[in-house]
Amino acid sequence: MPTATPTMKPTPTQESILLEKVFVVTYYGGHNPNSSFDYNNLANIVTSDLNNITKTKANFQIVKNVTWQRPATQNGTNCDQYLSKVQSGNWTTNDWQTTNCWGSGTANYNTMLTENNICDLINSNQIDEVWFFGFGNGGFWEANMTGNGAFWTNGPIVNSTNCSKPTHIMGFNYELTPDYALHSFGHRIEGVMRNFLPNDFSQFNIFAPNGNSSCGTVHFPPNGTKDYDYANSTFTNSDCEDWNISHTGKRTSINCNTWGCNQLGYMTWWLEHIPLNWWSYILKNTKQ
Ligand SMILES: [Zn+2]
Repeated sequence: MPTATPTMKPTPTQESILLEKVFVVTYYGGHNPNSSFDYNNLANIVTSDLNNITKTKANFQIVKNVTWQRPATQNGTNCDQYLSKVQSGNWTTNDWQTTNCWGSGTANYNTMLTENNICDLINSNQIDEVWFFGFGNGGFWEANMTGNGAFWTNGPIVNSTNCSKPTHIMGFNYELTPDYALHSFGHRIEGVMRNFLPNDFSQFNIFAPNGNSSCGTVHFPPNGTKDYDYANSTFTNSDCEDWNISHTGKRTSINCNTWGCNQLGYMTWWLEHIPLNWWSYILKNTKQ
């Protein structure tokens, strides 16, 4: 029989774990035949990745899951006529901007929120946030908000809803691997922290190739010189491992080997270095 091992480490109490009840809504409109990723399990993988990252601080749970066998309703008219062009990969920025179909924010968020009863579920505390999944040009923002007290995260606030509290909406692409969802979640964190603790966050997200950096941003790692520079092997002196707002922590020389030189490694590393006491802002929009 295994014996209990005494430990001096404090056990986290139930109260200290932030439970985040997630409603997953998928608008299934087919997928690119070249996509080899098994998207069926994406929401579970993202949840598991976030829980591994936040460890004892937060617990994401998918409490409700709905799949629509059609894409999300768009703001433009007769958008379905363009679907074959969209899914063949020949849909340009000019195309979606002129049609208001199948591009950034072209989905009709008020319809999506209403037809899934999101605000009723929010107001009765059955869910804390919603994750929409769609194909690559499904019309979503990566992250935005609705409800009383909502603010810009990575897309405009959805107005004219009856959500009684600030409510996070994620827009994930089910044709892409989970690192892209973590990327989008990172943008939500950037938006939340710029709203609540802009000074702290501006000291956290410093990137400076060959200089004194901290933890970087979603797009720029600590040694980054361009967007998505996750494979940069140039060394920089970073205090991310020992970060505080006054930068009195120890600096170490790091490059992309620290996170594995790819987006999944970088996003995992970056999210793991988010100070634990920020998660109550990120999930509950409040200081714990
Ligand atoms: Zn981005």
